[in-house]
Amino acid sequence: MKFICIGKNYLAHAREMGWQIPQEPMFFFKPENALPSQAGIFPYPEFSQDVHYEIEVAVRIDAGGRNLTEEQAAGCYSHISLGIDFTARDLQKQQKELGFPWEICKSFEDSAPVGSWIPLEEFGGDIQNLSFTLEVNGEGKQQGATRDMIFPVNQLIAHISRYVTLDPGDIMFTGTPEGIGPVQPGDTLKGYLEGTEVITVTVQ
Ligand code: MN
Repeated sequence: MKFICIGKNYLAHAREMGWQIPQEPMFFFKPENALPSQAGIFPYPEFSQDVHYEIEVAVRIDAGGRNLTEEQAAGCYSHISLGIDFTARDLQKQQKELGFPWEICKSFEDSAPVGSWIPLEEFGGDIQNLSFTLEVNGEGKQQGATRDMIFPVNQLIAHISRYVTLDPGDIMFTGTPEGIGPVQPGDTLKGYLEGTEVITVTVQ
């Protein structure tokens, strides 16, 4: 199992980070052990002083493949959730300056908690018509709508599958909207999909 994470997929977030708007999807991987060993707990890593939350719609691949068309991609998943793409922002800044890849700031142990999986049908069946929010300690921090994605989900799946086989159980994080910010030990993060709480994470 692997995590495939999309970067820069919402205009307002790309702007807040000072990124150029991508011409094609940008992605990176997280390893299987980015899923926290203790559900609902994110242990703050000792190597960073500036870890940020990024709430993202997560898609679980049921039937994967290689070189998928967008039509085939639409049949690859049936359940969705929310995930948090924890990012060591201080290390990311260093990596960007050095022109180095992002593994140490994005792909570390426990960096990708995921909430409960819910059938997309329960939310009406259209993955590009979902709203989601993140609260930190009860305060609203991020608010997103999947219609605002630069590259929609089926296009993302088709694109990624040109480069690597998607396997059943793989999880795709589809990018974060604006409003990212830091977390501290003791914080509690709650993510809501169409108003339903699907993920709770406590920073330890
Ligand atoms: Mn992200």
